[in-house]
Amino acid sequence: MWELVRRAGLRILDQQIAPAGITITCEGAAKEARCPVCGSVSRRRHSSYTRLLMDVPADGRTVSILLSVRRFRCVHRQGRRRLFAERFPQLVRSYARSTERLDALLTRIGVFLGGEGGARLCEELCVPVSPDTILRLLYRMELTPAGELRVVGIDDWAWRKGHQYGTIVCDLETGRTVDLLPEARTEDLVQWFTAHPTVEVVSRDRSGLYADAAALGAPRAIQVADRWHLLKNLGNVAERVLAGIRLPRIVKLLKRQMYGRAGIELLRKRFLALQS
Ligand SMILES: [Zn+2]
Repeated sequence: MWELVRRAGLRILDQQIAPAGITITCEGAAKEARCPVCGSVSRRRHSSYTRLLMDVPADGRTVSILLSVRRFRCVHRQGRRRLFAERFPQLVRSYARSTERLDALLTRIGVFLGGEGGARLCEELCVPVSPDTILRLLYRMELTPAGELRVVGIDDWAWRKGHQYGTIVCDLETGRTVDLLPEARTEDLVQWFTAHPTVEVVSRDRSGLYADAAALGAPRAIQVADRWHLLKNLGNVAERVLAGIRLPRIVKLLKRQMYGRAGIELLRKRFLALQS
């Protein structure tokens, strides 16, 4: 069951399965560790300390990993750092309090539900985290380096559904999210465009805010109303005319094409919100 723990180079010392949660105690299986500064391998153990990490839930319970981390003495004398702690990059990053796979899961939940909604779902899933934790992960989310962006899509993005909206920027050529701006404000987006002068085409909804931002920040870029928003507007009109006929499937396909997975759920919600 604890395959990841073993693959990360750890040995399980103990497992406690209680109604409240599961705790796995483990330590590094190797006799030596590699110094992160100079790269030399050391077997000279100095001391150890424990870290408590939250992992993905199992069996409807919270899972904690009590990790004993050993400190080693660097054998390289010129090494500036004499002592170093062993690392388990497959399991957890330095100083984190949750495993990489839990962070990845929380990030995805955050993309779909925002901080508040995500934290509420996590409570149901036996992962007690705060909205702030999810937001921190979202800020840290690996985004495509935005260097040679040519065609971008911009849209609203919900930190807290119905309360606080930011702006999501997608590279429409790769279908990946490239940036999240904390607020949906013209000046922030103008600044963003100024920092990304390679943008040639901006796909946006038909609101004035994004039109202004693109005109000010990327005056040479061509602005297009994206297919999804055009279709939505068209769909709304068509629906009014032909009550009962809707375009959800084609809209879904287009959205998937344009925004990749990350933006879809948001757009779906917006779509539903606009429908009601
Ligand atoms: Zn060293």
